[in-house]
Amino acid sequence: MTEAPKCIGCGTTIQTEKLGEPGYAPLSSLEKEDIICQRCFRLKNYNELQPVSLTDDDFLRILNSLGTQKGLIVKIVDIFDFNGSWLPGLHRFVGNNPILLIANKADLLPKSVKKNKVINWMKHEAKKLGLSPIDVLFVSAHKGTGMPEAMEAIEHYRKGENVYVVGCTNVGKSTFINRIIKQATGEDAIITTSHFPGTTLDMIEIPLDDKKSLFDTPGIINHHQMAHYLDSSELKYITPKKEIKPKVFQLNSEQTLYLGGLSRFDFIKGERAAFTCHIANDIPIHRTKLENADNLYKEHKGKLLSPPSEEFADLLPPLVRHEFKIKDDKTDIVFSGLGWITVQRGGVIVAAHAPAGVEVSIRPSLI
Ligand code: GDP
Repeated sequence: MTEAPKCIGCGTTIQTEKLGEPGYAPLSSLEKEDIICQRCFRLKNYNELQPVSLTDDDFLRILNSLGTQKGLIVKIVDIFDFNGSWLPGLHRFVGNNPILLIANKADLLPKSVKKNKVINWMKHEAKKLGLSPIDVLFVSAHKGTGMPEAMEAIEHYRKGENVYVVGCTNVGKSTFINRIIKQATGEDAIITTSHFPGTTLDMIEIPLDDKKSLFDTPGIINHHQMAHYLDSSELKYITPKKEIKPKVFQLNSEQTLYLGGLSRFDFIKGERAAFTCHIANDIPIHRTKLENADNLYKEHKGKLLSPPSEEFADLLPPLVRHEFKIKDDKTDIVFSGLGWITVQRGGVIVAAHAPAGVEVSIRPSLI
């Protein structure tokens, strides 16, 4: 009697009867020399992992177990949502393992943005948040820009050890991993899932060429992401695929700009000046008088001031006001997950209103 064939990916015994159960492969695949189960096939070809629902405890367990492994931690953040896609406390969990910080979605930044300014800003923010990354890079996983450099850096810093890729949901971690699979491992690489010690969670394991692996950890939900307050149908408006086109507004003091219904910017005090909005091209910007701004929001949130649409307007937490005295010319007011407004001339007072929980910060202009 010949032995039942095993999947060359995960080693499970192949069966052809029960779709959706471990080891299932279509009957026709039995004719092949190397048989791969459907789950491994899907992982290999589409990097699909069954969705798992995770609790905060699960995340803590994942993070904790990273500290007991030896390897390079690659932390992916969304360059448009640096604060919102941060994993607080990561540095406390990963022990002595080095962290390589990679910001994704660089293709959304306008061409005029200076690369070294972005890197400096990221280093500064990381330090403020308690993290000392071994290096900071930015890439577009979607377009492939910066990916060869990122892969070189991973190879260099892992020093022959495993690699663990971590990140919040929606930062583009899957897109990033898919790029790596495509570029690094070649056609025949077998991707499997493996249990992570101390957790019951599957990780995608991509073998590297020295018996070590790159592990894709499950995406972590960060409740401060603006993205969580929007319906997925609306998300596409705020996270565009295209480069941001800056829009300049000449404002007098006591004028307000609404960024859809998602955020608001008040020019409170100062000489007439230019303010440059860097937000997704599809979000309409409305200018109004400061004194009318509250009423406009009450009456038109979800209608004239949209996204969010009327249907989902109640999901959005109330706007919280943050006031800034801006001293320097060319200062950015950053609405995490949405974009930023460059205050071209210093010596002004402004206020930014963002949904409760969504971070607002200032930085020297990236341009
Ligand atoms: P994950 O949840 O972190 O695994 O994220 P995904 O890879 O599923 O990507 C989340 C969203 O970001 C999707 O809409 C992607 O198309 C988009 N995305 C991923 N990488 C990039 C990128 O480099 N640039 C842009 N503009 N969008 C990206």
